[in-house]
Amino acid sequence: MTHDVIVIGAGVSGLVTACLLAERGKRVLLLERRADLGGRAREFVHRGHRIGLGSHLVEDPGDSLTRVCEQIGHELVHSPQSDSMPFWTNGSGWAPIQEQYAGTSKAALKRCITALAETSYEELENWNHASLREWMAQHTSDEGVYTVWEAISVLEQITLRPHEHSASENLYTRKLHYGSRRTAGYSFWPMGGWDALWHAMAGRFRALGGELRTSAAVSRVRVEAGAVRGVRLRDGEEADAPQVVVSAPVWDLLRLFDDGALPWEFAERVRMLARNRNRACWIGYWIAAPEPVVAASEREMASFLSTPRCGLPGFTLNFTGYDADVSPPGEYLTCVGASFDATEHYGDRAWLDRKFAELRADIEEMMPASRRALWWKPHVVNNYGVITKPGLVGPVRPDTRVRGVEGLWLTGDTVRARGIGIDKAARAGITTAEAVLGDRLPAFAGTMRY
Ligand SMILES: Cc1cc2nc3c(=O)[nH]c(=O)nc-3n(C[C@H](O)[C@H](O)[C@H](O)COP(=O)(O)OP(=O)(O)OC[C@H]3O[C@@H](n4cnc5c(N)ncnc54)[C@H](O)[C@@H]3O)c2cc1C
Repeated sequence: MTHDVIVIGAGVSGLVTACLLAERGKRVLLLERRADLGGRAREFVHRGHRIGLGSHLVEDPGDSLTRVCEQIGHELVHSPQSDSMPFWTNGSGWAPIQEQYAGTSKAALKRCITALAETSYEELENWNHASLREWMAQHTSDEGVYTVWEAISVLEQITLRPHEHSASENLYTRKLHYGSRRTAGYSFWPMGGWDALWHAMAGRFRALGGELRTSAAVSRVRVEAGAVRGVRLRDGEEADAPQVVVSAPVWDLLRLFDDGALPWEFAERVRMLARNRNRACWIGYWIAAPEPVVAASEREMASFLSTPRCGLPGFTLNFTGYDADVSPPGEYLTCVGASFDATEHYGDRAWLDRKFAELRADIEEMMPASRRALWWKPHVVNNYGVITKPGLVGPVRPDTRVRGVEGLWLTGDTVRARGIGIDKAARAGITTAEAVLGDRLPAFAGTMRY
């Protein structure tokens, strides 16, 4: 066999796994069905603006994607941090989110932070089934403090109502970020942009001896007598390897296998997670304008739990404030997203059309500079990830190792991993590389792994 490992998919998790395995001397073949890199986090250019499709900011405090890049000899330069957190309240408008926990609430927030520091990552596993508010209620009954962490949940995980913000998922990230960066959520834009980052990683992968093929869609993972043999590409070509890592999200996973190739209970769990109604969804607008479309400052991290008309929770982010090179000179790019409940509205075109119209009127009221926009680009997001509600995180997600099929491994943000979006995918990639190697990588010692 010419390869030790075949990795399917060159999104974040596939690139991370492939790079780390190549760095440890494995002969790796990385196959990507698209012509470009980055998967859901790819970048495209629209009217001169570089739009990071699925990668607004990454919440990596330094020990996931950043450290992977260090390992393979590429410096991932972080943008400056956000400088304000405006929070919208209907009737009162924008105000710093810190006002939610002024006065006595400050002590209540501190109690939650201290309790979290004293809780181990292993103990957080006991909270997979519960909501963030249930955990917080042990330490405070202050609505303002709930609001702050729940608003962050909306921003990060696209969950909507208090009982839907999973405790363990949120607390893992809060603990990590308070512990290493002394802030609730450290995030950055990669200077140079996402496309440059994915290409830099691919370049390092090749320099380490890896083989990357784009426009190379895998149609089947070949499994014989309970063991992986390799893959078949859509054009019929076959590639052999004793180990295959699949980074396709759960909704693309089962079509890669013959019926009966995977253990029954595993396939059932994947089917459940892959349901459209378990997806984190939002509607949004990309807005380009001759002035920044912001709530308070150019490098803000703004959120709301309800807008005046459409009534949905969400975020707004001015990309140009983080990296001026995102937009043509004299133009600014903002994204506004509003989460919706897929269990009620998935695929309901009439409802979505109404909400888009209401959201546009809301944005014009909340950020008046948008009225002078050069263009608005609406988008519906239904592939952010499996929503992190209680009961849909932790062991219910597939493990890295697929038991019952020798040599088959999974990675990506929809499997069992912690973190947010890109950071979660990168952490899953590290976990999978370690599992394939059968060894912990010293560079990542001290970070929690499944
Ligand atoms: C609109 C949007 C906005 C987002 N915003 C953020 C954000 O601001 N911050 C954040 O951290 N996260 C964000 N996310 C989430 C983030 O993009 C994902 O969590 C992350 O990119 C997932 O990476 P992955 O490697 O697990 O999966 P993917 O990126 O889905 O990678 C899987 C790869 O496998 C390939 N593939 C699948 N099937 C095959 C096959 N048969 N053969 C070959 N290749 C195959 C796919 O083409 C893809 O490249 C956003 C997502 C979306 C959609």
